[in-house]
Amino acid sequence: MAASLERNNAVTLPPMKRRTEKIRAVFRFTIPVVKGRSGRFTWSILKSIKSFKEKINSKNIDRIGKAFHIIVDGSDNFKTRFLINDYCFKKKKVLISGAISKFDGQVYTFNFLKKNSPCLKCFIPKMPPNPDIDNCEFDGVLGPLAGIIGSIQANEVVKEILGIGNTLCGFILIVDALKLTFRKVKLNKRLGCICYEK
Ligand SMILES: [Zn+2]
Repeated sequence: MAASLERNNAVTLPPMKRRTEKIRAVFRFTIPVVKGRSGRFTWSILKSIKSFKEKINSKNIDRIGKAFHIIVDGSDNFKTRFLINDYCFKKKKVLISGAISKFDGQVYTFNFLKKNSPCLKCFIPKMPPNPDIDNCEFDGVLGPLAGIIGSIQANEVVKEILGIGNTLCGFILIVDALKLTFRKVKLNKRLGCICYEK
């Protein structure tokens, strides 16, 4: 989702259509004030945020993705998720992928610099039969779950940058928001997958 910066220090997100609620809403939130050593606002940090107001596809993914070592995927459809997975594998990037549907969420870290890293297609080998319907827009999703999964993805990014803690690479984190359980399940490379080398 694209976000636009405004001079009043707020971010306005475009209206979100939710089938389950059948309402349109504009969400606003405030970016915390960032102070540099001089005590003045460090607008350079905000200015360094790049936004791309175009839908990612096979033609533009390299132009958008080549400058980034770590890519975080929060997209809502299998076509895009497969595209980003294949691109990150090919270009040996770190992919931190999050998915939510109804009351469940998953987080994956794929570090394609490591030879033993599985990929998304090890877990989901084929596109579901109805990829345009099998997504959170049609299934609905418990709102706070998006924040939980997004925060865990951000935590993975910080760990990858700093090289600390235990990587999630080789596991899937499965979150059940109703039971409030977090399970880490081993994910190995799948024989015959694009990431599998003999
Ligand atoms: Zn794979």
